[in-house]
Amino acid sequence: MIPPRYVSDLAALSRLGDLVRSWRCPHCARSGTLNAHGALRGGAENLPGKDAVRGRRFFCSNRGRRPGCGRTCSVLLAQVFRGASVRTGSYWRFCSARLSGLGVLAAWEQARTGFSLESAYRWWRGWPRGAAALRPHLWRGREPPGRLAEALTERYGQVDPLAGFQGREQKAWPGLAS
Ligand SMILES: [Zn+2]
Repeated sequence: MIPPRYVSDLAALSRLGDLVRSWRCPHCARSGTLNAHGALRGGAENLPGKDAVRGRRFFCSNRGRRPGCGRTCSVLLAQVFRGASVRTGSYWRFCSARLSGLGVLAAWEQARTGFSLESAYRWWRGWPRGAAALRPHLWRGREPPGRLAEALTERYGQVDPLAGFQGREQKAWPGLAS
């Protein structure tokens, strides 16, 4: 078994330490070589200058006589976007307001994410790419027009569907990739 890419919450993240021995390294495929290697930290949402846990890093040990490849892999919280400090819940509040018909400014005001209006414009530019990645999971080839938000929340949850997507599909949602 290779490590998951996403887990649902901090408790699941801390439980990973017990599972690591049964994993195969995603780089070299050896088993039993991965070690927990500390938390993956980064800018906390809405708390500039503060640090928050984003995930956990694992090291495929090549130290001493260990046969690993020396590379690391990481497991992220499903609420985290790779390469961005906004989390899925805040981002979705903005996007769902925008998809309900509000302009960028009004959606940004309503969502109260704590991020700048410039951020909201940048987020919205990434939405088409993110939406394109969702469609195959939602409709499996058939596409009823205009119901993306409904289909998304129906499948992955009302409150935080993009975390649901990343956790359930074990895929990075690409709408915020920098
Ligand atoms: Zn390895």
